[in-house]
Amino acid sequence: MSRYSERIGAIIPSATLGVTSKAKAMKQKGEDVAVLAAGEPDFDTPEIIKEAAIRAIREGKTKYTPSSGTVTLKEAICSKFLRDNSIKYVPENIVVSNGAKHSLYNALQVVCNPGDEILIVQPYWLSYPEMAKLAGAVPKIIKPGPNSGFRASAEDVKKNITDRTKVLIINSPSNPAGVVYDEAELRAIAEVCLKKGIIMLSDEIYEKIVFDGRKHFSVASISDEAKAMTIVVNGVSKSYSMTGWRIGYLACEPKLAKMMATLQDHSTSNPCSISQFAAECALTADLDGEMAKNLGIFQKRRDSLLEFLAGEPKIKPFSPGGAFYLFCDISSCGLDSMEFAERLLEEKKVAVIPGGPFGEDGYIRISFATDLGTIEKGVGRVKEFVNSL
Ligand code: PMP
Ligand code: GLU
Repeated sequence: MSRYSERIGAIIPSATLGVTSKAKAMKQKGEDVAVLAAGEPDFDTPEIIKEAAIRAIREGKTKYTPSSGTVTLKEAICSKFLRDNSIKYVPENIVVSNGAKHSLYNALQVVCNPGDEILIVQPYWLSYPEMAKLAGAVPKIIKPGPNSGFRASAEDVKKNITDRTKVLIINSPSNPAGVVYDEAELRAIAEVCLKKGIIMLSDEIYEKIVFDGRKHFSVASISDEAKAMTIVVNGVSKSYSMTGWRIGYLACEPKLAKMMATLQDHSTSNPCSISQFAAECALTADLDGEMAKNLGIFQKRRDSLLEFLAGEPKIKPFSPGGAFYLFCDISSCGLDSMEFAERLLEEKKVAVIPGGPFGEDGYIRISFATDLGTIEKGVGRVKEFVNSL
């Protein structure tokens, strides 16, 4: 008899976390590594948020809270949804968890039965298929391909539906390709899902990082019917440079939210009380100026990167509409993405994430959540590397 569960045997380690920690360790040892791997903003958490956390500690807000989060944080989340997305929720709709990753995990645990199919659009954030498998479900991959701009149409969704389809994961802006779906596309997709009774799990973690003056649109804001069939996931990691604080949240029907809370009762209890007070500050303080400044910096980095790589025959970047990644076609280099990333790190000391774990082996993901100097240095070395092949 195996000592390990079949569930754990079926999943693979996270390449995003693996490469990032390897590169950080090399850097700590003094190696001159350009880290273009991490999916976390390089900006510091805003001072006012840190102060809120320090105040929470001083005021003794260091005890258990309700498993699904404090009422005041849930109220702040409801105000955020109304302000940013025009969706009306009440605290009974909200569950706060240890990061958006945890919210997504909980959602799939609560809605999936063995054999249910989860529709995931390729390239996908690499944790989705693993989370589906951990919930006993089967990931079913929709492959729109680069010629459709990696965008799944309502027709693509429809073609992949079977009588086992339970959930469609929507990720806009997406990781790794930075695809931003517009309202018309989401309306068409929602129509298909509503007709077939398919739950939409909408991961909106990159909501605030959208370029060229476009605006994020949430599928749950389409109608009451769409809202009832959508689980919206968001968090403070990317928007407020709070990756280490581990606060994410979701909004869904109260009955479902109660089930998620019960799951949390028996698995993690509440997310860190201090981080919850910090997140409440993030969602209620006036940080518009700081966030607009950061968005401008991301936009400038994206534009510079596209410029650095323009005309490079062996690395063809896909221009992202949002998030902070550049997904690049390296298929003409003659290496698979894993070999490419490993050799690039060994030979040129540049850390990028191979595209294979996102479902696209002819690609690499370059993160621009780092300063322009590191980006220039890193991309210069990537060019040298491909020209040496
Ligand atoms: N969704 C996507 C698409 C992501 O890239 C990430 C990575 N951080 C998450 C969710 C989870 O974010 P966190 O758990 O830090 O809130
Ligand atoms: N989501 C980020 C990334 O894709 C952080 C790492 C992770 O949680 O996977 O790099």
